[in-house]
Formats: sequence, structure tokens, C-alpha cells
Amino acid sequence: MSTPQSAPLAQSPPPAPVVVGIDLGTTNSCVAVMINGQVVVIPDEAGRRLQASAVAFLEDGTVVIGEEAKRELTRDPRNTVFSAKRFLGWPYDSDEAKRLRAQLPYRVVRGEDQNAMIEVRGERYALPEISALVLHRMRDIAERYLGREVTRAVITVPANFNDSQRQMTKLAGELAGLEVVRILNEPTAAALAYGYGKGLDASLAIYDLGGGTFDVTVLRASGNIFEVLSTSGDTYLGGDDLDNRLTRVLLLYLQKQHPFNLDAQPEVRGFVKHIAENMKKALSTYERVQLTERVKLAEYPEPVELSVALSRDLFRAQCADIVERTFKICDEAFSRLPFAPRDLSDVILVGGSTRVPLVRELVERYFGRPPRADIDPDEVVAVGAAIQGAMLSAPFSVEHTLSSPLLLDVTPASLGVVTIQGICEVLIPKNTPVPCECRKVFATTSDQQREVTIQVLQGESRAAAENVKLGELTLAGLRAAPRGAVQIEVTFEIDTDGLVSIRARDLHTGVEQASSVKVSAGYSEREVRAMRGQLSSHVRAADVSVVGGDA
Ligand code: AMP
Repeated sequence: MSTPQSAPLAQSPPPAPVVVGIDLGTTNSCVAVMINGQVVVIPDEAGRRLQASAVAFLEDGTVVIGEEAKRELTRDPRNTVFSAKRFLGWPYDSDEAKRLRAQLPYRVVRGEDQNAMIEVRGERYALPEISALVLHRMRDIAERYLGREVTRAVITVPANFNDSQRQMTKLAGELAGLEVVRILNEPTAAALAYGYGKGLDASLAIYDLGGGTFDVTVLRASGNIFEVLSTSGDTYLGGDDLDNRLTRVLLLYLQKQHPFNLDAQPEVRGFVKHIAENMKKALSTYERVQLTERVKLAEYPEPVELSVALSRDLFRAQCADIVERTFKICDEAFSRLPFAPRDLSDVILVGGSTRVPLVRELVERYFGRPPRADIDPDEVVAVGAAIQGAMLSAPFSVEHTLSSPLLLDVTPASLGVVTIQGICEVLIPKNTPVPCECRKVFATTSDQQREVTIQVLQGESRAAAENVKLGELTLAGLRAAPRGAVQIEVTFEIDTDGLVSIRARDLHTGVEQASSVKVSAGYSEREVRAMRGQLSSHVRAADVSVVGGDA
């Protein structure tokens, strides 16, 4: 009788690495994860579910990130970096970067290749480094909560982010020690949060009004297929504009009560703006808000008293036109669609400024139905990212294959190449569903030409110079031949993350260009190595000073 061989013990497979969802916002960030089919928005040590996307560099060399950094904003604005996401992907000399430089109190300098860099306490930081510090903090919050290492994430970006902004976001994730398994559009994440698993057959609008930007996106949800139909936005429209209006009102009150010279003490405006934002938020809860605050003015030996009452009616009179501007952008999004705002099944609110009652009222008037805000508008994007993360964390299970949502996003900007006259020839138009690809054949234009250079752009202008340059593709080592005889087929591809890549093939020899070019975040290997080195010391500093600390 043979001795039965003991069967090897069935080993349960190691748990799949968790994939968290991170909403890396301009003003605030949020991290969520799916646990046992439920999405959990992860709180920090103090129970806060939102973190300011701010990084403060203290005098003693420590780095504080998140809510602690926000406190430094009024105390030490020159060494506290916030709203850095607004600079992402904009060359130092671009109009956008110039405009931002004039508004923000910290120092922005020119780096290599036109990249904007932030200079704080004598050190320079690339923008992805700042985002990486915020992401590191979010990762740390998740690790503490879950009690395990977190190395994979879905990170969300605005739908209108171009390739270089997406590449930089991905780089930021990598610098924070995260494998970015998907770059997901914010509105698509919000739609997932509402619609996933509900078997919807509906058209939805995502109305996203944040601190400084407004976006509207119309999607079609059919079962688990989410298709973006149209998207429009304004990168200079948001809660900040409401704050500026109320600041003006408060400054007038202050001037009346205690005449002073504002031009000689610009810091007073910053202080009053802070009060204005708090009053605005209070007006989201109360009909009327009364405030008495002491303000230091150079003209008076003692701080003076600013005493003011604001009502929702006054807020409406001051701010309705700002909110109305969002509907001009909605009109633009609907102009490309065969149906009207009132034909939608649901309108979903995203962003802190959608808490303003006037916004909700006017949204209801425009869309003809009350908007949905049952998932917190500050958390809904992270919740959607966590759902997507959970789907991507179990890629081989049958269940997954059946339930995985199909996200059909569109490209936010046209992709083109520069032709000889400085004109941008569009190859993939804006709003094309991704992933997509397009082929174009380039021929030599002179005899014995050994090189062809192709400049790749993103943007809507016919003038090449007015678009964002993604990169340059040089096809070198061409066969010596009469002009036109060498033909190179170039394939431009946009993947599900919205990232652009390029391949080239010699049509005559069939040889793929060895250096098939990937358009990069605009940084060289050396620069990325330098960022890693610089960050590792700061992350250590942050680990000690912030992440372990508490409010
Ligand atoms: P976000 O960019 O989505 O984080 O939104 C930030 C903006 O939301 C800022 O302008 C805040 O002042 C604004 N916000 C946050 N909470 C409220 C509130 N309760 N009422 C009005 N605005 C708010």
C-alpha cells in the first residue's frame, strides 16, 4: 500500500496590492479606497477627510504639508506653496504663467527648457516635486489607516489637462513612490461614483465649481459604460472670484469706518480676503452673518474694529453675475450636443463652491431639476478614483471582467504637427474618444536629406506658436535619396490616460524608428534624478515633522 502523499496545503494568494484613489486638487486633496465593496474616504490622524494642497517650508528646514501648511499661508506666504497645480505644464514665459506669477506670493523662476520652478528659501523645486510632496502626504494618510504599504494609485486630473500636465502628474506620483495605474479625468471619476454598479441608462452633467476653476462635462452612462460626450471649462472662474467680490465689499466698509491707504499696506487685502472667504462659507449655512474682527492698520496705533453684517441677498447682488458665467460655458458644452440641458437625467455637483446656495439655485434653474449632492462634492472625485482603483487592482478575476467599467473619455485638446509655414495641422481633433491613433506620412523635402524633425503640439489655434509644444521628434539617419523618396509613417497615439506617444516607421524599408519617441513630461533623466534626490531628504523631514505630528 502506498503511503498517500500529503497534498500541498492550499495557499491563499497574497492579497493584491491595494490601489487607492487620489483627487489631487488645486486647493484640496482627498484619498479614498474600496474595502469589501464599500468606498472609504480616508481621514488623517485628526479625522480630517480633506487636506490642503499646500506645502510650507519652515525656517528650521522642516517641510509641512496639508492642513498644517495652510496655517502658514497667512503667517509666511512667501515660503508656503499653494495652487501649484495651476502652474503645471505652463512654460515660464507663457501668458498663463505670467498671470499666475503676478497673483501668487511665492517666487517662481525660470528653470531649464522654459519650465517654471518654485524658489523657496534659496532652493528650487520643479512643479511635480511640489505635487509629489502632497501625494506623499496622501499616501502616508492611507498607509496609516490601512496599516499596510500603499504603492499603487489612480490619480485624477481635470478633463482639460493636456499631455504634458498629465505626464507631470504621473511623474509626481512616481516621485512620491506610487505606481500611477491610471490617470483618470475628474468628471469621469464623479460619474463613476454616482453611476457605477447601478445599471444606469442616463445622460449626466458634472458641474464642477472649485476654488479657481470651473468645468462642465456631459456623459452618457449605459450600464457600466461611461462615455464623455462633451466638456468645457474656464480655468479662471471659481470660489476665488466670489471671495474677491466680498473682499471689495468688506474693504469699502473698513474704509468707511476707518479711512486708510490700502496701496501702502497690501497685506490688509490678504487678511480681509481671508475674512471674506470665511463669511462666504458661513453664508452657505446661515441666511445672515455678522462679524466683528480687529484689523491692524498703519494709520492707527491700535488695531481697529471691522464690524459688518452680510446677508444672502447682498451676496446674490454682488455675485450672481459670476455664477451666471458658468452657464455660458454650459451653453458651449451643449452647443455640440443634440439635446438640451433639461433633457438630462441628473446633474452632479463637484467642488467646494457648489455648497453656495445661490449656485445650487441657479444650477436648478438652468438644468430644470435639483442637482445631486448626496455624495460630498469635495469627496466625490476621490470616491470615483477609488472605484476605478479597485477595478484595476484585481485584473484577472472573472468577476472583474464582468463588472469593470468601460470609460470612454475624449481628448481635451487637438493634437497636431507644425507645417512649414508655422501653421498647426490637426491630426487628432479635440473631443475624439480615447484611446485613439492617427497615422501620417512625412516625406523628405530636399535631396540627400538625412533628418526630419516633427514638432508635436496640443491646442486649438491654427498658429503653431499659440499652442502647447509637447515635444519634438527627430527622425535621424535617413537613407540618402532624392527628395520625396524617403517616406516616414508616423503614428500618433493617445492612450486611456490621455497620454501621447509617437512611433515612426520608414515605409520603404519597413524599419521602425529605433528611438520610438515617448513625449516626456519635459524633464531630462538628469533633472528627474535631481528631483528624486532633493525630495528624499524633504520627505524624511516631512515624515518627522508633519506626518507624525498632529493638528
Ligand atoms: P475645491 O477647489 O473644490 O477644493 O473648492 C475650494 C473652494 O470651495 C474655495 O473657494 C472655498 O472657499 C470653497 N468652499 C469650500 N467650502 C465652502 C462652503 N461651505 N461654502 C462656500 N464655498 C465653499
